[in-house]
Amino acid sequence: MTIDQTDSLATAREFRELQQEMADSTAAMLGIHTLGEAVFCQRAAVLTLEKQEEDVGLEESALPVLGGLPTHDIDRIQAKLESLWRELRFWPLIVASCILPALIGLALMGNYYIAVLVSVSLVVFSRWPYELWCEIKYLQERLMIAQVAIKSEPDWTQVRTQAVDWWSLIRAGFNSVEKTRVLIDAELKIQGKPWRVLQRGQYQYPVILVKCDSEERLNQLRDGKLHPQQVARLVAYSCLLTLQERTKSEWAIVLFAGTDTGIAVPIVEKYFDYFKSGLATGRRLISNKDHGHRDIAEKPTKFNPCAGCRFGAPEVYRLQQGLAQTTPYLTRGTDGKLYHSQCGDRFGDVPLHRASEELGLHG
Ligand code: SF4
Repeated sequence: MTIDQTDSLATAREFRELQQEMADSTAAMLGIHTLGEAVFCQRAAVLTLEKQEEDVGLEESALPVLGGLPTHDIDRIQAKLESLWRELRFWPLIVASCILPALIGLALMGNYYIAVLVSVSLVVFSRWPYELWCEIKYLQERLMIAQVAIKSEPDWTQVRTQAVDWWSLIRAGFNSVEKTRVLIDAELKIQGKPWRVLQRGQYQYPVILVKCDSEERLNQLRDGKLHPQQVARLVAYSCLLTLQERTKSEWAIVLFAGTDTGIAVPIVEKYFDYFKSGLATGRRLISNKDHGHRDIAEKPTKFNPCAGCRFGAPEVYRLQQGLAQTTPYLTRGTDGKLYHSQCGDRFGDVPLHRASEELGLHG
């Protein structure tokens, strides 16, 4: 679904009409990540539903790097830097407390064992300050990038997907805000939280973090080719911010994981269809589940979303996994190992994942 010249930004009135049209007081609360998966594949929605995780506005494999170091929030980067410097200051004390006993041992008793022991300890412990130092260097680089960024922002009057640079938007006066609570629409019965919100005055644009696992996909994203499930999520967040926070949220930002770049996506009314479809399917799946229908989710047939789906990715089966609640659905690969996948275990077949085909799991 592409944007053309006749499209205009969704207004608060259109979001309210959407809310009235899709309101259902009897429906169960639906997480926005589940809603998005319901657009992608019903089985993926069921798996997400059963994981009972909160929506945090990022795709599972787009998680932050380097052990969760802050990457895009200046305040957090500065706070983390301060705490790392504090930790690093302990290192000379530790070294001194190791070396002194060694010197005393050598001087008084000529005990070389203590000296050897201390040397070994120092070698082992030197990893710790080295890792701290690497983290400090990384965060300093992040701050430097933020400081030298040039102020720029999309032309918000042009209703088309536009490239953005995270730090340029920050320089243009946007604040990166992480919502402390989940946003809830009690009428639509949806809840979720974008990864961040870019806030400037009355404008609040939701930000999601998406994975780019190939150069080809990155180029598609740069051209604004989002997956329908991603569009559904953007509409949901914009709707929540517009109606619940009373802000102007007719744009959303898609940030490419592992980079500082992304796209600004105008939210237009024609995108509402993805949202409606995900909401309707998600509600039906919850209702089926509540009524004890375990395997009601249909497998996609029109195209093969399984090829790159994380739920269908084959994993080598290990014995201790036998303690898991679901009985694994095992298939032997051409390498002689037993494989299973989250989707396969749950629904009892081998998804057409590209790695499964390479491993010969389809017989
Ligand atoms: S592997 Fe295929 S059927 Fe299973 S959740 Fe993913 S897309 Fe759906």
